[in-house]
Amino acid sequence: MSGIIDNVVDCEMKSFISDLQTLIRHPSVSAKKQGLVNCAKSVTDIMDKAGIKSELLYFDDVGLEDHSEHLIVPPIVYGEVKSKSNPQGKTILFYNHYDVQPEDPIELWDEDPFSGKVEGNCIFGRGSADDKGELITRIKAVEYYLKKTGDVPCNVKYIVEGEEEIGSIHIEQYLHKYKEKLRCDGVIWEFGYIDVSSRPIISLGMKGLLYVELIVKGPCRDAHSSLAVLIENPAWRLVRALNTLRDDKGKILVRDWYKEVRQFTPEELSILSRDSFDEHEFKKEYQIRTFVNNVGGIDAIKSLVGMTTCNIAGLTAGYTGEGAKTVLPAVATAKLDFRLVPNMTPEKQFSRLKDHLKEYGFGNDVEARLIHGEAAVRTPTTEPFVRQVEESANEIFGSSIISISSAGTGPMYPFVKILNVPCISIGSTYLFSRIHSPNEFARLDLLNKTTKCMGRIMEKFAKSR
Ligand SMILES: [Zn+2]
Repeated sequence: MSGIIDNVVDCEMKSFISDLQTLIRHPSVSAKKQGLVNCAKSVTDIMDKAGIKSELLYFDDVGLEDHSEHLIVPPIVYGEVKSKSNPQGKTILFYNHYDVQPEDPIELWDEDPFSGKVEGNCIFGRGSADDKGELITRIKAVEYYLKKTGDVPCNVKYIVEGEEEIGSIHIEQYLHKYKEKLRCDGVIWEFGYIDVSSRPIISLGMKGLLYVELIVKGPCRDAHSSLAVLIENPAWRLVRALNTLRDDKGKILVRDWYKEVRQFTPEELSILSRDSFDEHEFKKEYQIRTFVNNVGGIDAIKSLVGMTTCNIAGLTAGYTGEGAKTVLPAVATAKLDFRLVPNMTPEKQFSRLKDHLKEYGFGNDVEARLIHGEAAVRTPTTEPFVRQVEESANEIFGSSIISISSAGTGPMYPFVKILNVPCISIGSTYLFSRIHSPNEFARLDLLNKTTKCMGRIMEKFAKSR
């Protein structure tokens, strides 16, 4: 069955690509604070042209006065279309981001990273998939609705931020500040993967994250290593401290670490049992023989979506260059990331970690610094919005996969908590689109289908109670 905007999507691919190229050609790299305001303005231009009323929202009064590139906190693009036929009905909120990852290493790109070059079924460039391609599918679905019918099936809002690639540092405060304006009944997340069989993966949640640095200080400066008989080496202290955190099976040994972890619901278990995770393919990709604790089958899937982790992300001390240097370092540091699952909170887990270090005798010399914390969240599988998204995806793509949570982390928790609505991730990003890597690309066939899918989602959402 053909949808209302389907043939418009097919006919308008040329202007679709040209608007996406306009966005890709803005090098809006948040890590370098580069080109952000210009890109945000370009998004508002494309929205206005599409018939979406848009404006830039600023974080504070500095932003209101100073619209230049020197802003410390980049603005958010807000867009809105009210349904004429259904103004009291539901409101969908599209969350996306206009910033991108740095283009480095630039020498590994086949083309200019910000060219937006089209070749066959692919459009290349930093941000082509993550997240400008996704953003344009959400804008175009509404533009084509307005073009075809003069209306949209449900009320639509957009929030497009400029700091996603640096950890969405201000999104929570933005959500608080503009809570009334952003009021809605459901959120479509900024991206969604599409697997090698062209099936969209509909993800209902995200893990949380606790990012910590451990610092051990030894002598006031690096010392000659012959003095190791007298001076305690901070690297040894750090290694001993780290060794108390986790056993060989991956179990975290901090007291009460698992206390709030909620068990999978029966519905979640039934979805997990249908998961198509291919562990052999996965092991081949990473050239590993076994998983942690030898898990396999359903347990591997459970770990991926629902287990907390204690990972050493970085470890530094002393001399790590070529050849030998006999040195006793003055300082040793470790960066640790802990993935969190519902209903753990980063603050509580951090204080447990500090208590643990104290209890094991590291309270005086191993300093723990909190770098970043984010809680996990999952939209319940029983939420009607999930079925509407699933049906839409199946109509356009033939089939889809439901995943109860991504193994990764994003700012989904503040959206669900502050706006108090279900949040679902679905999109156009081919699994191997090289996002964050050289030669990132988006597939035109998937952008086309996802735009149609967004149309279906709005239709079904409008009809639901
Ligand atoms: Zn990204």
